[in-house]
Amino acid sequence: MADEVSNKLLSGLNRIGLAMRSAAWGEAAESGLTPTQSQILAFIAARAAQPPRSGDAADALGITPQTASVAIAALVAKGLVTKAPHPGDRRATSLNLTHQGQVAARVAAQWPDFLLDAVQDLDQAERALFLRILVKLIRRLQTDGHIVPQRLCVTCVHFRPNAHPGNPAGAHHCAYVDAPLKEADLRLDCGEHTAAAPDVANAAWERFLSA
Ligand code: SF4
Repeated sequence: MADEVSNKLLSGLNRIGLAMRSAAWGEAAESGLTPTQSQILAFIAARAAQPPRSGDAADALGITPQTASVAIAALVAKGLVTKAPHPGDRRATSLNLTHQGQVAARVAAQWPDFLLDAVQDLDQAERALFLRILVKLIRRLQTDGHIVPQRLCVTCVHFRPNAHPGNPAGAHHCAYVDAPLKEADLRLDCGEHTAAAPDVANAAWERFLSA
């Protein structure tokens, strides 16, 4: 049984989700793309260094393979996406953006102004705390198998939580770029992410929580 505050939090998240879906449909009508097609474009753009497979898009967006396949076929027909043999999987094809697709993906990846305004209205400390809470929620959903693994700092082999306590440049450390990492700089979808082994990730998580 959820307590009253949990109910309010989930209700609030639901309202924000409704506003985001409504905005996505409005933008879709303008761009001639469905929200799913826009999300797939943004997904491919975020993984341009290692072009994803159709199945990767379905998993990441939480949609069925058939829905992803229909949306990708539409994007190919519109000249926004091309398919090529996947270098690491002979049975799969990898997805790439055409030049036109890259332009459309940049538009698709932009947040509606009203959402940006609302988030930017939070002060710096509130935004950092909000991000920490999101990291905790996303990691929990991932750990429990409700969403596919995300490219979070807190699950990355390069993450050194609380390596520089009290350092104004950042209490954490990213070994990939060998630089301090502020709480507000934690990434939710980093292109340089490499998943840490479960025991390493769990130990890092405990250090992160203690920070
Ligand atoms: S490589 Fe990316 S995900 Fe990994 S710690 Fe650095 S910023 Fe975070």
